[in-house]
Amino acid sequence: MSQRSGLTSILSLCCPKCRTGRLFKSGKILRPGTLFIMHSACPHCKQSLEPEPGFYFGAMFISYAINTALFIVSWVGLLLIYPDYTLSMLLGILTAVVILSLPLSFRLSRSIWLAFFVHFDPRAGNTPHY
Ligand SMILES: [Zn+2]
Repeated sequence: MSQRSGLTSILSLCCPKCRTGRLFKSGKILRPGTLFIMHSACPHCKQSLEPEPGFYFGAMFISYAINTALFIVSWVGLLLIYPDYTLSMLLGILTAVVILSLPLSFRLSRSIWLAFFVHFDPRAGNTPHY
């Protein structure tokens, strides 16, 4: 069985320890509240996905960086497509970008943050948990 790389594991929102178990319960796009629900432990290797209370506070900084990159891309795109844009047009587009990318930035920032602290263990998930 081929093993995911660290980057692939982060981008596919998988547990950084076993790179197999999913971090989030399957969310439905029609029920947006379900997009933000994480497993408390990895379904494959049982790694705790919330090692301590407030663990994901630091993920806010990663989310900030992701949103800043999206803002810059949106602004440059608007500048190239419609150079005579107004401030209200720019604010409307940035607001739409934030709202539409919220599930992505939330999930991705948590996946990156968790990967900083939980390291890959090729044996994880191979031993049964009784
Ligand atoms: Zn795992």
